[in-house]
This record gives sequence, structure tokens and C-alpha cells, in this order.
Amino acid sequence: MATVTFQQAREIVEREVCAARRPLRTEVVSLAEAAGRVLAEAVAADRDYPPFDRATRDGYAVRAADTPGALRISGQVRAGQEFAPSLRPGEAIEIMTGAPAPPGADAVGMYEHSRREGEKVSFERALRSGENFVPRGSEAAGGSVPLEPGQRVDYPEAALLASFGKQHVTVYCRPRVAILSTGDEVVEISQPPLRCQIRNSNAHSLAAQVRRAGGEPLLLPIAPDEPVRTLELIEGGLEADLLLLSGGVSMGKYDLVEKVLEELGARIYFDGVSMQPGKPLVFGRAGEKFFFGLPGNPLSTMVTFEVFARAAVELVGGAARAPLRFLHARLGTDFRHRAGLTRFLPAALSGAGAETVVNPVKWQGSGDVVSLTRANAFLVASADQSEWKAGDWIPVLPR
Ligand code: AMP
Ligand code: MG
Repeated sequence: MATVTFQQAREIVEREVCAARRPLRTEVVSLAEAAGRVLAEAVAADRDYPPFDRATRDGYAVRAADTPGALRISGQVRAGQEFAPSLRPGEAIEIMTGAPAPPGADAVGMYEHSRREGEKVSFERALRSGENFVPRGSEAAGGSVPLEPGQRVDYPEAALLASFGKQHVTVYCRPRVAILSTGDEVVEISQPPLRCQIRNSNAHSLAAQVRRAGGEPLLLPIAPDEPVRTLELIEGGLEADLLLLSGGVSMGKYDLVEKVLEELGARIYFDGVSMQPGKPLVFGRAGEKFFFGLPGNPLSTMVTFEVFARAAVELVGGAARAPLRFLHARLGTDFRHRAGLTRFLPAALSGAGAETVVNPVKWQGSGDVVSLTRANAFLVASADQSEWKAGDWIPVLPR
């Protein structure tokens, strides 16, 4: 039916999920539980940050225009102490990191760059106004709103919330993401598989990915390749906020997922993407709910989740944006592929710092989970280039 390019598929997912957003359920959690959650409230600064003109070094608070000096030391101020008396021309006040600078001061000269003789101090050079000195309110003015709804709480946000004295915050409830694996050959992991059967690994990789994206995974029973039971399970899955199916979306005689979804009146935005792994990939909507029919090969399931469904989980969970960003690394070896498909290949980033290089990892195709446990990234080979030389920059998606 509709095969689209990788970029088109990304745009469709972001556009459709954003356009359909409704007010979400919220809950109040303690700051200690807020990491990884998405803010549902705007958070204003309770006072100016910093709340006073703050010294960022140990040394002497001065008027920059008076330097290099010799200035009379007229007092001392430590972190946690109230303001010292105003600084008069020709004076310096000894000051510690984090202490409020006295009125009149506009720079702090570091001990390391100063020479003290008795009650006088001079500096190696003239100081710039503003040096080692952060003016009151310059990071955030009291009442300004540095945190908006839709922002995920990570460690810097946790620090800011703590600074503002927010012991509790309102966050969006985690979106419930139903996971439905299909396939007659797939058995629950608690069951000993026959030789021709495989355990349901996709449900567990998806659950881990959903968790990482801020969702709450709900594992449904495995759907056999039979339409009546599949339909029943899909209907159940559509009660969640988002439905992820694995398997049953290729051209095989028993690939029923798309047919069953159409029977339910679903709208299908695309059912193929010119990428590998992950060529057969269904994205659609049934009623209010979006679903992905992810290809069943384990690496295909993982990659298509990462590059498409992850954004949907984040957006359905209230995130303001969910861009997919690639980094670039230098190839450690020549690399070629057949142009026409965007490829995501298991790859290893090695070396460190500016010496980091990326190399593809040997793999046996999109069923090879072992290869991916040895990889720490995907190398992204674009559809419109076929050859790269060792040392060339290439996009990577860290896993
Ligand atoms: P399908 O997309 O249904 O044609 O499945 C493609 C391949 O992925 C087949 O080799 C399946 O056995 C395998 N597969 C499908 N579903 C799962 C699953 N839940 N866990 C692990 N492998 C699966
Ligand atoms: Mg199947």
C-alpha cells in the first residue's frame, strides 16, 4: 500500500501524534520520585537566581575600575553571611566563593592573581567588570519560568526544582503502552519451547524500551496467527494509551495484523518504510489510539521502536518534543552498502574522546540479538550514499 522514506515516516508519526494530543492525566509526586517524569506544570523561580550578587571565586571583591590596585582591605565576607557594608572607592573586601558581594563591587579578583602586603592588595592586571561575579537575578529572575510543562525531569531539572524548594511536582501520568506479540511459533518465556518454537523476546525488549521512554508497559498474551483471537487481543490493547504489536506485518500467508486492524476501521498512515531493518512497518490509528505494527524480527522490532515508536510514547506521555538526533563519528574502516534504503546496523563506538571511532559489528541479520548486545550504537547509512572511507564522518544512533 503506502511505502514511505525513513524521513517521511518520522514526520508522519510526529505530526499525527502531536495533532491528536488531548489533555493528559496528571499526578503529584515527590521530587525524589520525579526523575524521568514529564512536568505537567510550569515552575517559576521563587526568588532571583542568584539571590544576591555572587562571588564565584575566593579572593577580593572590588570595583574593577580601581584595579590593578593597591586597595585597602576593609573587611571580609564568607559564604552564608549577609552582605558586607558597601564598598567604597579604593577598597577591597576579602570574599569567599558563594558569598554575597558587597554593594558597589562589580568584580572578584582571585587570590591566585593578587599580591597582598599587610592590609593592602593589588592585582597582576586590571580586572574586567563582571569578572568572577554573577549579578543577582542573572540566571533566573524571581517569577520567571525556567521550567515549562512538557519538559522531562533529569538531573539538572531536579537540581533546579530543589533550588526552588519544590518538594512535590505535578507530572503527567505515565502513558500505558500495550505490547502484543504475534506468531504461532512464539511462546511465553515461562514455557519450555519445542524445537520449532521461540520464546517471546520482543515483549521484553519492548517493555524495556517503553520504560526508558517514560511509559508503563502492559504485556498482553501472545496472539496466534488466527484472526478471531488476534482481533480480540488488539481490541483489548487499544484500551491502553498506545498499542505496539510485534510480528505479522510482512507478506507471509499468516501475517494478519494489518487486515485485522482494517477490519476494526483503523486508519493506516503507512505500512512500509524504505529502511532496514524494519521495512514492513505499520503505523495507524484506531479511534483515539495510535498503534505500531512492528516487524517481528527482534532487531527490526528494536530499531523501529527506537526510531519511531519511542517518539510516540514520549509525545503521548506529554513531552513537548521528541526529536530523533543522530551524532556523528569517524568510521574506523571503509564501509559500503546498497543505496536506496536507510540502514541501521549494529556498531561499536570505541576509543575515547576525540579519538572515538565507529565500526560495524558482525551480525547475522535482523534476528541476531547477540550481535546487538555487543554493540553500543547503530551506524546510520543514509539511503542516498553508498560508500564511505575510513576516517569519514557517519551518523550514529547510540543505543
Ligand atoms: P514476522 O514479522 O511475524 O514474520 O516474524 C519475523 C521473525 O521474527 C520470525 O523469525 C519470528 O519467529 C520472529 N519473531 C516474531 N515475533 C517474535 C517475538 N515476539 N520474539 C522473538 N522473535 C519473534
Ligand atoms: Mg509471524
